[in-house]
Amino acid sequence: MRLTLAIAALFCLIFSFASRATAQRLPSTVVPTHYTLAFTPDLKAATFTGQESIDVMVNVATRTITLNAVEIEIQSVTATFGCFTTDQACSENLVLGSPAISLDKEKEQATFSFSNEIGPGKLVLNIHYTGILNDKLRGFYLSKTARGNYAVTQFESTDARRAFPCFDEPAFKATYDISLVIDAADTAISNGPIVADRPGPGAGKHTLQFLTTPRMSTYLVAFLVGDFQCVSGEQDGVALHVCSTPDKVALTPFALDVAKFTLHYYDTYFDIHYPLKKLDLIGIPDFEAGAMENFGAITFRESILLLDPKTASIADKENVALTITHEMAHQWFGDLVTMKWWDNVWLNEGFATWMENKATAVMHPEWNIDETVAGDENDTLNVDALPTTRAIRAQANSRDEIEQMFDSISYGKASDVLLMVENYLGEETFREGVHAYLAAHEYGNATAEDFWNAQTATSQKPVDKIMESLIDQTGEPLLTFGAPAGSKVSVVQTRFFLSPSIKPDPAQKWTIPVCFKNGSGAQECQILTPETSTLKVSSTGLFFANSGGKGYYRSAYAPAQYAELVAHAESELTPPERISLMGDEWAQVRANKATVGDYLNLVAALKADPEAGVVGNATGTVSTIVEQVAATPEEKAALAAWIRRTFAPVYAKLGPPSPSDSPNTRQLRAHLFGLLGYYGKDPAILAEAAQIAESSIANPASVDPTLGQIALAVAAENGNAALFDKLQHAFETSTDPEWQESALRLLAQFQDPALVGRSLDYALSGKVRNQDAAIQIAIALQIPEIQDQAWMYLESHWDKASTFLTPGMGAVLVSSSGSFCSAEARDNVQSLFTAHKVPAADTYVKHAIERINGCMELRRLQEPNLKMWLEQNQN
Ligand SMILES: [Zn+2]
Repeated sequence: MRLTLAIAALFCLIFSFASRATAQRLPSTVVPTHYTLAFTPDLKAATFTGQESIDVMVNVATRTITLNAVEIEIQSVTATFGCFTTDQACSENLVLGSPAISLDKEKEQATFSFSNEIGPGKLVLNIHYTGILNDKLRGFYLSKTARGNYAVTQFESTDARRAFPCFDEPAFKATYDISLVIDAADTAISNGPIVADRPGPGAGKHTLQFLTTPRMSTYLVAFLVGDFQCVSGEQDGVALHVCSTPDKVALTPFALDVAKFTLHYYDTYFDIHYPLKKLDLIGIPDFEAGAMENFGAITFRESILLLDPKTASIADKENVALTITHEMAHQWFGDLVTMKWWDNVWLNEGFATWMENKATAVMHPEWNIDETVAGDENDTLNVDALPTTRAIRAQANSRDEIEQMFDSISYGKASDVLLMVENYLGEETFREGVHAYLAAHEYGNATAEDFWNAQTATSQKPVDKIMESLIDQTGEPLLTFGAPAGSKVSVVQTRFFLSPSIKPDPAQKWTIPVCFKNGSGAQECQILTPETSTLKVSSTGLFFANSGGKGYYRSAYAPAQYAELVAHAESELTPPERISLMGDEWAQVRANKATVGDYLNLVAALKADPEAGVVGNATGTVSTIVEQVAATPEEKAALAAWIRRTFAPVYAKLGPPSPSDSPNTRQLRAHLFGLLGYYGKDPAILAEAAQIAESSIANPASVDPTLGQIALAVAAENGNAALFDKLQHAFETSTDPEWQESALRLLAQFQDPALVGRSLDYALSGKVRNQDAAIQIAIALQIPEIQDQAWMYLESHWDKASTFLTPGMGAVLVSSSGSFCSAEARDNVQSLFTAHKVPAADTYVKHAIERINGCMELRRLQEPNLKMWLEQNQN
């Protein structure tokens, strides 16, 4: 699964730790092997009927069989003993009496109790039931458009049980025969290709039968009904389709090209051919996450699949490509080989995140994905340096605990760990380990140990010790290096916390590869163990502790070494290394070991950096300083003046946009434009923003989309009702989901109080889909100038707002409340979410409070430093 950009930005701030375990696991004495599923959905009445046969192997004689079911009404259950439905010939099938049915709503389980003991042996359960097509974006749910309704599925993590009674745990893999009875005008998509299309039963209906699936987990089953249309392609003998509602088919070719490239890249990389006959990528009008890797039938938020290359920004294209490569990586890593249980969900998400970057970097080298990766790693390290972070592998038993595993630790940290291990072993050795792991467990399940034991065996290096140290230990190391003495550099490791008031446990140490850049610019790797106190360096000169920025640790240097690194950053360090250096320096500021002035001096030293990723990283932190450290209007104005003095000449030097600009130049211009507009309040930029916004709304293809996106945001911040009306109209009338979504997000960024009110009312008006309503409020809560108004609105409209909260969106809303920076706001946050419990959000409330406290501490410690630095840097 991949989160949307807007959600991902918020989810970076979300993490969880193991809490109280509740036993909801199914017994393993009864194991399913095959499901036959027939659905008849009624898209008008929002209901469905289901007929199901489950072949189960009873391993230990029992009177009761327990499986998962929720929001399902079971009409009848019968059972036969002796043969499976999949058996070719069978003579001893015994019809058993109907079992008594009991439902446990809280555990989401159904138990069938037979009058006599059954087994051991083969049993078939035949179940007739009805269910609802809900509007909560999970299970079997309804997606509505002006053209008509669609019935679609989203089962990860534990919602297959809303569509069919099942053994809803990832290790209970089985094969599936799926058929759907649907309206004659509609089609259906499922995991396998269609093998039969028969008229009826009844007038105006047809029945689609899909090819039997391979062995797979319940959470990867998918079926979608509606008038979808697809474009088709072929790669390596696999049929590829990108599908959408009929009005959006013109926006599918970009995704098809990405899918073709990616399929061949993965066939080669994994050295295991894509396991199914076809792969569909489908855009769904209502979809909570970013995308979902159902085996052979990947579903997407429309804005993350469908785009017009002429009007999409580079960031939008990157997001589509990264999401497709992420979900396609899951077809092997997750679908073909699945984690045994959700405690190891990082095996899915960390791997797919690492792989999306790798594949996209090869497909589009001009996007400099390595810079994005280094920036993301800084963000993850900052989250992991908070006291309530969790280990990558953590306990997850209840639904709430499982849902909270989909956080920046499972995605970001796990992917960073894989990047570090790959860099240490070398790309080819690591790839061989990946292949060995997949080949050993295909169509089965695996654990963290299975992965690192495969890597240890292939590489003959201590990957098991390294990965265990990083996967099972909480937090991150800070490596403090002494001045190089001849061929030696001293090193001390401690756990790093952003807050200087938290003292690390001196006993906590890691075993990790430290790959550094030596004086001749070459990478050298050494294993750092808890006992290591010095590193050997084979050549003297500049020492940079994190070669490629690929190591998952923070670095701190002796003052003279740091000064030398800054002086040679442009000439001796790669862009990801410069990003890593900036992240380390900001971490030192947060920990009160450096001042905010030290950081701004570093930014000034790198102001003319030619790389968009480096400048984007610097401007991101400068925005944090403006919003969180500057406490008075005078300080904000002085910072704005410094931003203008420092960056306006750099921006001017870039000149006006030209069709021949590289993607890097386009993004560099956009970052500088945003910094000067948002935080520099540069009058020339504000005027330019208003102009570009008008042109962009009138004809999106008339401006550079990458600059257009940021100009629209700057214009919205300073915009009036006329601009608001135009964007609202664009949202309501556009058929381009990318443009539609960005118009909607822009409405949440206006700062005129009357327009803030209109935007919030609009979010809850019913005209905004459930997938977006909470995000609109969450955006407003994150903008310092309007967050108080948004908060008061949320408090007074809680009853209405909460009706839009799907589980994922509840987490987004709660998390965004951590963007405040005062004791009063913190207490308000605490009391609202104490009075109104948001399901599965207890830990998110704690984290929000922790972030507010962190901001208050940062301001208290660094605001005097900022004041002093501003006085010294007035001109
Ligand atoms: Zn994923």
